[in-house]
Amino acid sequence: METEIVSELEERLSSRQLEIALELNGPVRAFLGEFLRSRGFLEVPPVIFSTVTDPLNHPVYDPSFDYEGTRYSLTKSMIFHKQILVQKFPKIYTFSPNIRLELAEKSSTGRHLLEFTQLDLEQQGASREDVMKLGEEMFSSLMRFVKEKYSKQLSEIGRELKIPSAPYKKFKLLEAEAKYGSDWEQILSELEKDPFWIIDIPLDKREFYDREKDDEPGILSDMDMIYPEGFGEALSGGEREYEYSKILERIRKKKQTNEQFKWFLEAAKYDLKPSAGFGIGIERLIRYICGYPRIEMVHPFPKVPGKVSI
Ligand code: AMP
Ligand code: MG
Repeated sequence: METEIVSELEERLSSRQLEIALELNGPVRAFLGEFLRSRGFLEVPPVIFSTVTDPLNHPVYDPSFDYEGTRYSLTKSMIFHKQILVQKFPKIYTFSPNIRLELAEKSSTGRHLLEFTQLDLEQQGASREDVMKLGEEMFSSLMRFVKEKYSKQLSEIGRELKIPSAPYKKFKLLEAEAKYGSDWEQILSELEKDPFWIIDIPLDKREFYDREKDDEPGILSDMDMIYPEGFGEALSGGEREYEYSKILERIRKKKQTNEQFKWFLEAAKYDLKPSAGFGIGIERLIRYICGYPRIEMVHPFPKVPGKVSI
């Protein structure tokens, strides 16, 4: 096993594909940070572990530990920290390292790692449509930048990038599911030539903190952006629930406990200011730019579900 890991590592480190992904990594992050700062967003530091983290809506193992009598978890996402911060700072973003100990079966997707980075942003008073527009402008201008500045690298790996024009297409999740079945994400992602949105996701498919639509009970005012060419989900986000009584009700519906989220609930008890935001996975983004078959090709030390890693 050890020799296999070492030879895989040697092969990865000597591949031009990884080198190109790393050459893009810094400029892509710098571009995104600059883009957001130019629109008045403030970069906040990441939180690596906390007494409260994202419950997620799919099963993962829980990396948590005791310190001086208190239970902490490694960060699965900074959603609650974003919601607390956005009360005071109206536009924030962070490059947030997330640990999600995904089940081994997730290795077949080619887009899951156990350790990855989200560019996670939140805006006070914004609607879902506001942050979708921001996401489109950010993504299309990033594609323009990469195409202009990194054409040599892109042609070396045979990647043709398109600059999508806004607004991107929108599909309601239930309609996509009715037309394409449970594998709608992969099917639509392969059919579409440009990134597109999936909107209006039913309550049971998401966490408690996304806001239910006022005019459509059971449906959330949230969205995913999906890459074309079969690369699948790029980002998730939406409007957040800000009314304390509704937050409690949603936790109850999920059969989760108030105790689990007590520090967040403490901050939310006089209601929060409305906000919306999203998180986009950086490794998936670099993989999409490079057009690589698997996400681990962009990281020197990828943690692949179910595999022993350095
Ligand atoms: P979520 O809000 O859970 O959808 O996470 C936000 C974004 O982070 C996703 O849209 C992906 O781009 C990225 N992401 C989530 N889980 C993983 C993972 N296990 N490996 C790599 N990227 C991920
Ligand atoms: Mg998601």
